[in-house]
Amino acid sequence: MGEKIKAPVEPFRIKSVEPIPTLDAATREAKIREAQFNLFKLDAESVFIDLLTDSGTNAMSAHQWAGIMEGDESYAGARSFRRFENTVQEIFRMPYILPAHQGRVAENILFSTILKPGQFVPNNTHFDTTRANTLHKGGIPIDLPVAVDGSSGEYFRGNMDVLALEKFIEDKGAENIPVIILTVTNNSVGGLPVSMENVRQTSEVCHRFGIPMFFDCARFAENSYFIKKHEPGYESRSVKEIAQEMFEYGDGAMMSAKKDGLANIGGFIATKDLELARRMRELLILVEGYATYGGLAGRDLEALAIGFEEVLAEDYLEYRTSQVAYLGSLLEGAGLPIVTPTGGHAVFVDAGEFLPHIPAEQFPGQSLAVALYRECGVRTVEIGSLMFGEGGDDAEFVPAPRELVRLAMPRRVYTNTHYEFIAEHAANVAKKKSSLKGMKILSQPKLLRHFICDLAEIG
Ligand SMILES: *Cc1c(COP(=O)(O)O)cnc(C)c1O
Repeated sequence: MGEKIKAPVEPFRIKSVEPIPTLDAATREAKIREAQFNLFKLDAESVFIDLLTDSGTNAMSAHQWAGIMEGDESYAGARSFRRFENTVQEIFRMPYILPAHQGRVAENILFSTILKPGQFVPNNTHFDTTRANTLHKGGIPIDLPVAVDGSSGEYFRGNMDVLALEKFIEDKGAENIPVIILTVTNNSVGGLPVSMENVRQTSEVCHRFGIPMFFDCARFAENSYFIKKHEPGYESRSVKEIAQEMFEYGDGAMMSAKKDGLANIGGFIATKDLELARRMRELLILVEGYATYGGLAGRDLEALAIGFEEVLAEDYLEYRTSQVAYLGSLLEGAGLPIVTPTGGHAVFVDAGEFLPHIPAEQFPGQSLAVALYRECGVRTVEIGSLMFGEGGDDAEFVPAPRELVRLAMPRRVYTNTHYEFIAEHAANVAKKKSSLKGMKILSQPKLLRHFICDLAEIG
């Protein structure tokens, strides 16, 4: 990277605005201290630009809001469900569609139905909830991401390591692997895409061993657009055709529609297997709701059906992926080292490299996240040893592989100007970085400590 990237033009205009709170430096200082230096504990009212997550934070279009009024709230067989079902069938190429209120329920229902304790679930990289749901059913999550040399120029770093997958199946036996999952884009690897060639090869291995392949496809449109832009042979195919081809290689899919559904809630499971659909539907009715609403209101199904079509628009996807690259280049220009190439939904800053004077056990990512909030009221999230490291109290400290800070970008929400504002202030943080202090945990729960732990600055 390093080259200047131009600001992409937003292919929409703004019809409805939501004021965001501007706070002075003294207020920000008081708020971050009240929150014990944990940004999850800040009220949204204390945040100027919220880049905590791209999940469920999307802006809907005028067309989707009109759809909200059209929502059919009938308990069974609602018109909005049929519209949702038809749209999902057309894009995802699978006949049986089960709605769910978000992705993790889809995971829970799938694993409750097909996974026996002690069995393995390989994935290019599990997202946290996918891993947790596998473990919860007694399964063993296995990550098999392709190892890419940073300097190779290879774009598709989200790929599955197909040779390692083949070897793993031979070692453990296909009978001990009820499903193989391909996550597109690969969220835990910076939102980087999986190539069509890799989809095809993974599918070939799964089917040779008689194991079904499911997609975890929260960001299917971003992945499809990267294939169009970066994989030879796909330049002139429409993004929708690319998505359709991708899903043809699978046996099923589960989706958190809070991302590429361009709505604020929703998800589904899709499958080609009637018997599996029947078994999952029983559980769906037990835990989510009847088979034609699955924990969602009719209006949500309506908004999602429209969102799945809008998210495939190529001017939108060009703007979306360019805006991520643009923020990346602005932050680099401000003197923050970022992970390159940028993916589909976030920019990751390498806080370990940025703050070499703060060791991993003093959470340099958290220091940077706090400094950015203090500087300009932006909320980001540490993805490093606070989130993924181990230890505390009496246990020995084990660091995460990298100390990152993620700036996740809600879809169609913030303008280029917001991102330029963040970068200008990030440059101020870069100027005084040697004065940033490490952090220590004051109190922590046993699980998922980053959400609720209290912290303090050292020194
Ligand atoms: C967000 C996400 C999930 C979980 O979905 P929720 O809607 O948050 O429950 C699962 N997999 C991936 C890849 C995700 O990004």
